[in-house]
This record gives sequence, C-alpha cells and structure tokens, in this order.
Amino acid sequence: MAFPKHLCPTSPHPMGLEITHARGSILYTQDGKAYLDFISGIGVANIGHTHPAVVAAIQAQAERHLHVMVYGEYLQASQTALAEKLSAVLPAPLSCVYFTNSGTEATEGALKLAKKFTRRRRLVSFDGSFHGDTHGACSVTGREMYRTPFEPLLPDVTFLPFNQVEALREIDESVAAVIAEPIQGEGGMRVPDAAFLPALRARCRAVGALLILDEAQTGFGRTGRLFAMSHWDVVPDIITLAKALGGGMPLGAFVASPRLMKTLSRDPPLSHVTTFGGHPVCCAAGLASLNVILKTRLSTRAARMGARLMSALRAIAQTTPAIVEIRGLGMMIGLELADAKQAERLVKRARARGLILGWTLHSDRTIRIAPPLTLSNAEMDQGIDTIHAALKR
Ligand code: PMP
Repeated sequence: MAFPKHLCPTSPHPMGLEITHARGSILYTQDGKAYLDFISGIGVANIGHTHPAVVAAIQAQAERHLHVMVYGEYLQASQTALAEKLSAVLPAPLSCVYFTNSGTEATEGALKLAKKFTRRRRLVSFDGSFHGDTHGACSVTGREMYRTPFEPLLPDVTFLPFNQVEALREIDESVAAVIAEPIQGEGGMRVPDAAFLPALRARCRAVGALLILDEAQTGFGRTGRLFAMSHWDVVPDIITLAKALGGGMPLGAFVASPRLMKTLSRDPPLSHVTTFGGHPVCCAAGLASLNVILKTRLSTRAARMGARLMSALRAIAQTTPAIVEIRGLGMMIGLELADAKQAERLVKRARARGLILGWTLHSDRTIRIAPPLTLSNAEMDQGIDTIHAALKR
C-alpha cells in the first residue's frame, strides 16, 4: 500500500501498516495479518491497545459532554478526578496539575512556568534529550540536526552531557530550569548512573533553578515503577507527563506545587491558556487507564517481565556479535547494534515475521523494545523468538 497522498509524510519510508483494529499487544491489518507491538505505539499503550475499561470510560463521558469551555474555567468531573488521582500517586509537593494535549505542550508549559516563577531566562538541557517538537520544546531538544533548520529558537539554552556529574557545575544562579528525562528514550534508552539524578537535584536546589523531569516516556509503570524518578528517590519541581497518561487518547500534563502553579494565574492572569487541554473525554480515558495500572499493579509486573525480557535478550546477545549493548529498566529497553544497517535489517525482518520494533529518534543503531506492560508470557516468548530468528544470518 502506498502511503496516502494527502497525509503529510514525516519520513521517506513510513511503515504503512493499514490498521483495522488493535487489542492488547496486537495490531491487526487490512490484509488479515496480526502484528505483535513491541513499541506500544511509541510508549503509549502501557495497558495494551483498546483497553475495554478505557473504551467504556470514553463512551460514558462522550454521552455526558464533550468540550464545554476552555481549560480552567468550569468544573469538569473527569478532569478533577484525574487531577486528584495524579496528586495522590505523585510525591509531595507535586499536587497541582495543568492538563495539555500532548507531551510537547507539557514541556512548553513547564518551561514557561519556570521562567515566570524564577524571573530568570536561561535553560539547561542535555545532549541526546527529546522533549517535543514545538519551538520551545525543540529549543531544549539535545540534537543539533533537529534544531538547526528551525533557528532562531529560544536563546540562552545550554546543553550539558547527560550522565556527567562534573558538568552540572555549569548550572548556576542564571538558570530558570533544567529539563531532563530520567531515562533518555529517544537518545537510545540511556539509564543514568546512580549518582547523576540526585546530583542534578542537589545542584538545582543549591542555585535556585527549577528541576523539570520529563516522564512522558518513562511514566506510568514503564520502567518498573509508576514513575522512573522513584528509582533514584528524586522529586523534581515540575514533572511532565504524556503518552500513556491518556490511555490511548491525547493528553499531557505538567504538575508542580500549588505555590509554583499559582504563577500562571496572575501578573498577568491567563498567562498560559488552552482550549482543549484536559479534554473531558481524554481525562476520563486517563483516569480509567490509571485505575487499571494501579489495580493490576502493572508497575510491579513491568519490573518482573522487564527483567525476564532483559535476560532473554542478554542470552541472545551472547551468540550474536552484532549486538553491542543491551540497556534499560523495566520494559524500556534499548538493543544497540553495531551499525544502522544491521538495526534496519532487524526491524524489517522482525516486521516480516509479525513483530513491530523501531529505532529511537537520536540513535538509528538502537532498537526500541517497549511492549505493552500487559504483554502475556506467551507473547513475550513469541517476541523473543522472533528477535532471535530475525538476528540470525
Ligand atoms: N518528551 C519525551 C521524553 C518524549 O519521548 C516525547 C515524545 N517522543 C515528547 C516529550 C513529546 O510528546 P508528544 O509527541 O506527545 O508531543
């Protein structure tokens, strides 16, 4: 099938699967094939595709009301319930939620909040990071080739090497905010050493810079904890959420303390508004999804399944010289191959065998392995066998 003529392409070679329906870990296509999804629609389908609880919540909310007013004016039960639930599961003082439509908008809101609150201008980010594709988010995305065509972007952004504690000295009293992913997703599933995030937290506190942790990709059980930050016992000033937050619907959020969040409602008031952010149907879906994650203890399951997946992949690596490194946490795993050609070959051969794998944006040698956290044991075995077969010469 040719990719439709009237949809803007974002790459020269889209996968082009023609989806008819999706359930759990499986995507079904027009030609009658079934594909095991090992990338979760890029970090979204933590509870699997088309979860019945989410579908029911969407249907019920759609019957009650759709959009009624721009964000922040009316009380909408699905919004307040999800905000309340998020506050309950996030560590103090992260208890005041601003809903957005996407991860990139969550980044935008967090950056604007930090600049307004601190009255500082400088921002710090890390090489290899990804925080979204609007101008502000793109300005703090740590890969030059994705920034250059869009310059001028935000001034006063400094990029530091990820996972280097000594480099954090660069963060000083001129910095409004430092933004970081606890584990770099698009940077190739990079898990920092034990000391890095605690050192970053301490440095930000010492100089009065706000720490923004972007958990768009790491959140909601993906890494074996509800939020990845808890692996290091680090609490940011602002957390950004997206992807799995909406249970398959478009939803993002930035969350901070009420003291910080008040900044957006004065001097001037209405200094960050959105029409659709926190759409009631998306919030209803998000609440249903979060309830599933909590009730089924999906984070714990992700830790257990992720450990199994990791050790199976390590066993394959022992007899596969093309695999350079396997890294990750929970069900967020990167398989680094010797070169991009071999990575491409693996993705194509796996797809021909009914398994969806993908690259990470900044590393075409790193294969992303991030299945739904609800993956069954049989599906996991099938995925592992397919990867093994696809890697064979
Ligand atoms: N932050 C991170 C860490 C991401 O991985 C992404 C998306 N890959 C975003 C932000 C942007 O999210 P969205 O595509 O919803 O704008």
